[in-house]
Amino acid sequence: MQTFDVLVRGSGCVGRSLALALGAQGLRVALLGSAEASAPQREDVRSYALNAASLRLLRELKVWDSLPEAARCSVYDMKIHGDAAGRLEFSAWQQGVPELAVIVDAAALEQQLAAALRFAPHVQIVDAPVPAALTAVCEGRDSAAREQLGLRFERHGYGQRAIAARLLSERPHQGVARQWFRQPDVLALLPIDQPQPGKGYGLVWSLPDDRAAELLDASPAEFEAELNAVCGEEAGALRLASERSAWPLALARAEAVQGPGWVLLGDAAHLVHPLAGQGLNLGLADVAALLRVLAARESWRPLGDERLLRRYARERQLDTWAMGELTDGLLRVFASESGPLRSLRNQGMSALNSVPPLKRWLTARALGA
Ligand SMILES: Cc1cc2nc3c(=O)[nH]c(=O)nc-3n(C[C@H](O)[C@H](O)[C@H](O)COP(=O)(O)OP(=O)(O)OC[C@H]3O[C@@H](n4cnc5c(N)ncnc54)[C@H](O)[C@@H]3O)c2cc1C
Repeated sequence: MQTFDVLVRGSGCVGRSLALALGAQGLRVALLGSAEASAPQREDVRSYALNAASLRLLRELKVWDSLPEAARCSVYDMKIHGDAAGRLEFSAWQQGVPELAVIVDAAALEQQLAAALRFAPHVQIVDAPVPAALTAVCEGRDSAAREQLGLRFERHGYGQRAIAARLLSERPHQGVARQWFRQPDVLALLPIDQPQPGKGYGLVWSLPDDRAAELLDASPAEFEAELNAVCGEEAGALRLASERSAWPLALARAEAVQGPGWVLLGDAAHLVHPLAGQGLNLGLADVAALLRVLAARESWRPLGDERLLRRYARERQLDTWAMGELTDGLLRVFASESGPLRSLRNQGMSALNSVPPLKRWLTARALGA
């Protein structure tokens, strides 16, 4: 009977990346997917902003450079608007980095990871759990395995949904990402070369549930009118180029991410608001941390050794906590309708804009440097 070193449960981007990376280390890996994962009911219209650390991992896995050109795009400038005169701008040139982030088509990334797995010599796809020294739970926000482990995953629901869609602009995006922090919604335009080279954007618009429901029900023309009213002339006139999909938003952390013979990674371990585009970056950082810990283990220590896995938990604790607090804090600052706070937050943004060292520090954090 075949024996496995690691069982990876869940074949989203985090589970697939982990399986590929562990297989490349020579470990025997079983990857447990689900029918839902292999045949999604609708195309994922999201585009993800990934940082330099995620890019490094995907390059090492030989996934990034095989993605179709149109499915990835570099961000050279980022322009953030407050809900009054507040402005904050970042540029790769000023920060001395080749790019601030990369944008990738979510469906293309999942497909490319699946394609790479077909050639991974030590990875076997299984359709039921198999015994292994270590089980890595990567089942996303509603993980059943996390529940079976009896772990609490307290969600602080934001009462908001994120609407995602692909857009086409009349003007070239020139590698500029844009974001509007308004009260109470946050809208981001991520440049991507679909549906047309140089003129596509991925939309992520987080809104209160009732407003999101209205916008999902609105006709394409009504939706576009609302969208263009927010973005004004900044990105040129925008048109819908895909269906609209929506995700409920919450902040959550599992009470523990490791125990004897098991670890949690990705959204199964933590959920953050997408306003900073960091959920998958956190998940891929989990993968990189677990790889480092397993590769550095003493030869006599089994893979499921709890003391070993605690090193992984320690390594990830601060990063995950800080990102949850940052996204939550930003949301709270912009949720207040109070006049003085509104003017303070906008002045704060503009003040920060004129302090290059602080901007450099923030950029380095966001890049995962
Ligand atoms: C609108 C939106 C925009 C976002 N934008 C960004 C961004 O710009 N940058 C960024 O870094 N992050 C972003 N995120 C976050 C990102 O989408 C998630 O953090 C990431 O997809 C989590 O990946 P995962 O593999 O952990 O979980 P998932 O993608 O949820 O994958 C889990 C997989 O496990 C499978 N599964 C579930 N249960 C079982 C089971 N019992 N058995 C077997 N398999 C199972 C599921 O079918 C799925 O395939 C965004 C999120 C949203 C909602």
